[in-house]
Amino acid sequence: MTPFRPHGKGTLAEASLQSFVIEQASSVGLLGLVGFAYAAWFRQHRAAMGFVLLLWLALGLGATPLAKLSELSLAHDLTPTVSGWLPWNLLLVASLPSFTVASRAFFAVIVVLLLQLGIPLMIDPATLATMPSFSERIGALAPGNLSRWLAPLPQLVVLAAAFVFFLRWQKSDQLTELALCLMGSLMLLGVLRPDWLFWCVVGAMALLMLGVFITTHRMAFIDPLTHQYNRRALDYTLTHLSRKRQFAIGMLDIDHFKRINDRFGHDFGDHVLRMVAARIRSARGARVYRYGGEEFCLLFKGRSLREAVLRCNVVREAVAARPIAMRSPRRPAHKPLKKSAFREKVPSVKVTVSIGLAHSTEADADPAAVIEKADKNLYKAKKNGRNQVVSGRIRKS
Ligand code: GH3
Ligand code: MG
Ligand code: MG
Repeated sequence: MTPFRPHGKGTLAEASLQSFVIEQASSVGLLGLVGFAYAAWFRQHRAAMGFVLLLWLALGLGATPLAKLSELSLAHDLTPTVSGWLPWNLLLVASLPSFTVASRAFFAVIVVLLLQLGIPLMIDPATLATMPSFSERIGALAPGNLSRWLAPLPQLVVLAAAFVFFLRWQKSDQLTELALCLMGSLMLLGVLRPDWLFWCVVGAMALLMLGVFITTHRMAFIDPLTHQYNRRALDYTLTHLSRKRQFAIGMLDIDHFKRINDRFGHDFGDHVLRMVAARIRSARGARVYRYGGEEFCLLFKGRSLREAVLRCNVVREAVAARPIAMRSPRRPAHKPLKKSAFREKVPSVKVTVSIGLAHSTEADADPAAVIEKADKNLYKAKKNGRNQVVSGRIRKS
């Protein structure tokens, strides 16, 4: 008996597909292990558990070298077992509150998964083939008509799990949660068509891997508070900047930010930083980086100094245009679809920024020297009274 037994019709094409799957089985197991290690290393614990679930599925489908080692598993067809338990395991992974890969909850889930594969291996293969799944047992417990309604229970449980992942994604804005939600949707396909389950596992692994990669990329290059590029991203961009193309750098600093923090608290200070970042970003033409604290760096690639000055003034005016209001604790977290009746008088503060600008032609296109010049101009802008743009050759307020 082959280790992988999809419920196919057994055509020639399917047989060659099946042997391809078996050949690729160790790659799938390896991909799952690498994904698990990577997700765990970057503290993406739910994604790590997602990889454990996919490895468990691959193991159950007999598509890993581990399963090939076991004579017992070769004699048993565990496909119905894993597709029976899959919806409930998925719901378990989705609904567990916070946990880490080193927590007891994680260990307990692994034990449960191994028991789900281990116990059937001790049962006689012929008896195993006739045993009802967990969902069918629940359906049988329900009285008369209700049991008929419970027939699509596995599909409903998978949908519920995918929905919980979706809610997690909405709340956290983490792409791994979206990848887990898509994994849930693929698993629905796997539950509906068990002969496609192996390919659903491969697809889900690829999606989860992509989600984990993008999330770690964001961790490395995006500032979590303002959602702008961080200092590391700026350093990387500047070292790879073409010296043949002109560029301008603007150093932007929020005026009297310490006073805002002191008067309204650090949380409101953070809110102001986010709002200022959003207003800076809305002005086109520059790439925005959070340089550190309440300082941002604006990089204008291929722009003349005059163009950069104009754009910096647009940014400065966009920040100063409207005062920034304090967020009320009673304010809804998300903007409602309908115009909200929520009106509350909250304190607001007028925020301004000062910008120092320098151009590549002034410093032989050396980014470090351009930043130094921009910093000096920022200092001048502060000294001149703030809320203004100062550049080497053009001054505009
Ligand atoms: P100036 O107009 O001269 O720039 O005055 P300033 O008060 O803005 O400058 P100063 O350097 O004295 O103060 C900067 C303050 O920014 C001090 C620090 O506590 C605050 N800050 C830096 N990073 C953060 C942050 O991430 N969140 C909050 N809330 N405050 C921050
Ligand atoms: Mg500062
Ligand atoms: Mg400041």
